[in-house]
Amino acid sequence: MSDTAEVLALLRAALGDRVDTAPASLAAARADKSGHAASGTPLAVVHAASVDDVQQTLRIATATGTPVVTRGAGTGLAGAANAGEGEIALSMRAMDRILEVRPDDLLAVVEPGILNADLNTALAEHGLWWAPDPASRAISTVGGNIATGAGGLLCAKYGVVRDAVLGVDLVLADGRLLHLGHRTVKGVTGLDLTSLVIGSEGTLGVVVGATLTLRRLIPGEVCTIAATFADVRTAAVASSAVTASGAQPAIMELMDAASLAAVHALLHLEPPAPGAAQLTIQTDGPAAAAEADAIAAVLTEAGGSPSLTTVRKASGCSRSAARCTLRWSRWARPSSRTSRCRGAPCRRCSTRSPASSVITGS
Ligand SMILES: Cc1cc2nc3c(=O)[nH]c(=O)nc-3n(C[C@H](O)[C@H](O)[C@H](O)COP(=O)(O)OP(=O)(O)OC[C@H]3O[C@@H](n4cnc5c(N)ncnc54)[C@H](O)[C@@H]3O)c2cc1C
Repeated sequence: MSDTAEVLALLRAALGDRVDTAPASLAAARADKSGHAASGTPLAVVHAASVDDVQQTLRIATATGTPVVTRGAGTGLAGAANAGEGEIALSMRAMDRILEVRPDDLLAVVEPGILNADLNTALAEHGLWWAPDPASRAISTVGGNIATGAGGLLCAKYGVVRDAVLGVDLVLADGRLLHLGHRTVKGVTGLDLTSLVIGSEGTLGVVVGATLTLRRLIPGEVCTIAATFADVRTAAVASSAVTASGAQPAIMELMDAASLAAVHALLHLEPPAPGAAQLTIQTDGPAAAAEADAIAAVLTEAGGSPSLTTVRKASGCSRSAARCTLRWSRWARPSSRTSRCRGAPCRRCSTRSPASSVITGS
């Protein structure tokens, strides 16, 4: 292990002002969103602006025996991006370019530091989106999403990161650059090293580029059903009944009594009935309304009290764009139907299920 001054001198000679030793920067690199911080302070934050910057940093680190902690946006909840005493915090946040979008091939090539939501805003202009949707998508990077194998509420229908990455460019600890994966869905030859990297939390190397597989924006409405049940077991049985019915919701999320009570307390609502649980289910696409009707009937049959919110997406807008909500109606009978948004302008309905808003992030 070389001493700190020597490592810093080597980094500065190679990377100039991209080597940051400001106390505030060092302090920020000690923590992520886990609530924990490294006990010591890193020796520097390197703000990589290119693949070459990453390679130079790792070569110096290897030559001097200095640990490196790669950071995206630092939204992780496991402390894995926390850099401690004598370590180099390698920030990928400045490498945030979209290098290529190919709507016909449904792929994009990006640098790792772009925020998930920023990527999707740009893709929406092409009528496209990248499906992985961690709840942190507005504040987390695509590189961090890949390194953690992130997934979100839409994963059952649209998959997790592992289903949406065709290839990665990876810088190894000795500075070598590997191009892993393919540019086609049918690219299946050879060992699947891309999958090995996904979820590896920076332990195998630094992701410096990614080839992503995209989807076309889903046309039609989004229907959200919030169904309350007397207890969590009944709600769980109901969720199985929905799956067994053949429906394919975009989202199906179960809140037990403790979670539901916490949400009600957060939103200053009347406390839920003791022991009550909630299933929040979302359908999308051209058949969203019919699927929601069918699911509501299954939930009612299973002992739930479903209510429905219907949202019509403005043409060209992405899932996460501002939504217009028409109404939140009680399901008195399984056969009853809700009215739907037919014209602009719509506005957010003040009577919709607040708890389902929290779950769906809408
Ligand atoms: C409010 C909130 C909601 C969240 N919701 C979800 C959720 O729904 N689903 C979910 O999966 N997670 C969720 N998370 C956790 C977190 O946001 C994700 O794990 C996210 O993918 C981390 O991205 P990041 O850019 O912040 O990475 P960081 O926190 O900076 O890093 C996370 C890990 O990835 C490594 N890493 C980062 N970039 C690279 C790179 N370019 N190359 C190699 N390794 C790298 C780091 O070393 C570290 O091990 C949530 C977090 C918060 C705060």
